[in-house]
Amino acid sequence: MTQDWGKRTKMVHHGARRSQFGEVAEAIYLTQGFVYPDAEAAEARFLKSGADEFIYARYGNPTVAVFEDRIAALEGTEDAFATASGMAAVSGALTAMLRAGDHVVSSRALFGSCLYILEEVLNRYGVEVSFVDGLDLDQWRAAIRPETRVVFMETVSNPTLEVIDLRSVAALAHDVGATVVVDNVFATPVFSRAVELGADVVIYSATKHIDGQGRALGGVICGTREFIRGTIEPYMKHTGGALSPFNAWVMLNGMTTLDLRVRAQAATAQAIAEAFESDPRLARVIYPGLPNHPQHDIAATQMDGFGTVLALDIKAGKEAAFRFLNALQVAVISNNLGDARSIVTHPATTTHQRLPDDQKLALGITPGLIRMSVGLEDVADLIDDIRAALDMI
Ligand SMILES: *Cc1c(COP(=O)(O)O)cnc(C)c1O
Repeated sequence: MTQDWGKRTKMVHHGARRSQFGEVAEAIYLTQGFVYPDAEAAEARFLKSGADEFIYARYGNPTVAVFEDRIAALEGTEDAFATASGMAAVSGALTAMLRAGDHVVSSRALFGSCLYILEEVLNRYGVEVSFVDGLDLDQWRAAIRPETRVVFMETVSNPTLEVIDLRSVAALAHDVGATVVVDNVFATPVFSRAVELGADVVIYSATKHIDGQGRALGGVICGTREFIRGTIEPYMKHTGGALSPFNAWVMLNGMTTLDLRVRAQAATAQAIAEAFESDPRLARVIYPGLPNHPQHDIAATQMDGFGTVLALDIKAGKEAAFRFLNALQVAVISNNLGDARSIVTHPATTTHQRLPDDQKLALGITPGLIRMSVGLEDVADLIDDIRAALDMI
């Protein structure tokens, strides 16, 4: 019955499991273990656990299970496994699936830690990874081959907000039987249509919009029941990347307002992008909701909104970008995203500092580029803040 509920109703209610006390807010089960009524019950549970039968919090926990059920219902997958962080989800999903001799094709424009896993970790274990320009379907077509096991991408890239044509790439991957794994942080569970477009496995850093208030780390891997319980759970439960029950509870509370927050943040991001689109001090304003964004049409068909992050490219370069950042009074300088507070980042000197200059430029990370994760403040205050800071450069 709950399948018919809309996303907002699911975000508030789906999968609630109440104890005998009938608590309204989800209970936090801060326990690592569970008592069995007798030795026979312990034996039976290790042989095969039933629904709501738990063994050890590294394997599963009642508070974490509510979070898993709720996010799976939102994403439209059969099941989900919650992890300690977004990176535990990305590295866990890939290492659980892959073995020596497998081939992976990935887009090149990735979050730094994702790039580390794909570029420096997997090949240590005999997995070959080919990188492509995610926007170039010919490159995907040329790289995907019969032994390709996994195709990986961030559906909207960080920090330059390129939008990959997921439906077309998934079709190429499925032709050779490869599994399509997407890091869907920028699309958010609110705007995501990843499963409908062909993603087999959808990953979120819950640290971002799902918490949305900058409090806790978490992540989640969404997929079929067979994949989650057959491939992911055995690997995750023995390698230790479980989500803490307390953090699961933080995420559940974040989810009750997720839809409202993300829609408000996206509306403000659109307003800011439009306000500064033709500012002469900016080389470009990047936001998928602007009609001049190169993948605006793809973004409009594959997401239910354009996201909460935009980028401003200050023409005068790094010193001017730093003066701009230092002059902001409302937005804070940090590196999280999806938070209620607007956050500005200078990728070239922080999140993407490690990349050689030529790679930075190839990814569009210019010395003047500023990523802005738009928060929940009044839109007029944010626009005034940006205008005043631009006047300081
Ligand atoms: C933040 C982020 C991650 C990692 O998530 P953590 O919760 O910080 O481990 C992975 N991918 C993308 C796109 C991110 O923005």
